[in-house]
Amino acid sequence: MDYYSKQISKLIEELSRLPGIGAKSAQRLAFHILNMPPEQVDELAGALTDARHNIKYCQECFTLTDTDICPICKNKARDHKTIMVVETPRDLTAYEKTGKYEGVYHVLHGAISPMLGIGPNEIRLKELMSRLTKEDIEEVIIATNSSLEGETTAMYISKLIKPTGIKVSRIASGVPVGGDLEYIDEVTLLRALEGRTEL
Ligand code: ZN
Repeated sequence: MDYYSKQISKLIEELSRLPGIGAKSAQRLAFHILNMPPEQVDELAGALTDARHNIKYCQECFTLTDTDICPICKNKARDHKTIMVVETPRDLTAYEKTGKYEGVYHVLHGAISPMLGIGPNEIRLKELMSRLTKEDIEEVIIATNSSLEGETTAMYISKLIKPTGIKVSRIASGVPVGGDLEYIDEVTLLRALEGRTEL
């Protein structure tokens, strides 16, 4: 790509690495950025760098946060005996937006996928099991996606937890197959949560 000067090409190249950004969008974004006031660009660059360098995993639920313990885990008003297991921090946000879930979470950061070579040790499953032995937990709600990977993960987790005697439930289907939780509207999410069944 020699149509642009080196720095513009570099900017387009970096932007096109982002998910969902093709070559055309990258060009459009690059020229948009070049037309922004310099202070605004500094803000954007600063936000990117700060977020990437300061965000870490919550020591309890493993969501992304800028403190050792995230605000949800820190909140004493929440029900710490109910853990909802989700695949990503985005799924957590989707449930938080419903404003109706009062328990806490556990973020796996992925799902078991034999096809992609992702086994139980590649997700935060050991950490979940260790929480179950250390904390007084009454129910684990498995809210992994309804994709093949999500279902495989749900089955695997329920088999692990069953012997402990802790109640394990799975959110109701009705969430479209293969659907990412984050794209599902809040009413559907709530219905899935309320209609959960014990495994
Ligand atoms: Zn947390």
